Amino acid sequence: MAVQAFIGIGSNLADPVAQVRRAIDRLDQLPETSRRAASRLYRNPPMGPADQPDYVNAVAELETALPPQALLAALQGLEADAGRDRDGRRWGARPLDLDLLVYGDREIDEAALTVPHPGLASRAFVLHPLAEIAPALSVPGLGTAAGLAARVSADDLVAVE
Ligand code: ATP
Ligand code: MG
Ligand code: MG
Repeated sequence: MAVQAFIGIGSNLADPVAQVRRAIDRLDQLPETSRRAASRLYRNPPMGPADQPDYVNAVAELETALPPQALLAALQGLEADAGRDRDGRRWGARPLDLDLLVYGDREIDEAALTVPHPGLASRAFVLHPLAEIAPALSVPGLGTAAGLAARVSADDLVAVE
């Protein structure tokens, strides 16, 4: 059974625009998965430690038959391929971050996987690209993507190109 899933993509190292574009392509090559849509890319200031480069962020919509834990493992594989090491500080600079934002209508609360992603409701760089590709999406327990996006300012987001 295919499920609609949304992935938050971020990069602020090693040519972030290229990293995000490459990740969007690679998501389409994951097993049992096809990409259905991708948002524009947005440049925005870092969350957390400010002494790091600006981020480039986007959101992709997938249709996948992978279970959520397997999808997360596949995303972490793509992060590792991009050269991400996991000994950095929280929210520190990284060449690629792939977060599972939404997985169908599932709400998951496991040690290694929380869905919808806990940062989703407060992050402009997630909500605006999400609402761009799926405004009517019902985010389990939270409301529509467009409704959530309307509550956070897009002032710091600058569309790339
Ligand atoms: P944030 O999750 O606040 O955006 P981050 O993306 O920098 O921060 P990571 O270092 O990428 O955090 O991930 C830390 C851990 O978060 C991972 O080991 C993973 O098990 C866990 N995690 C829990 N829920 C999710 C999710 N929905 N998507 C991605 N990782 C998740
Ligand atoms: Mg993240
Ligand atoms: Mg992450």
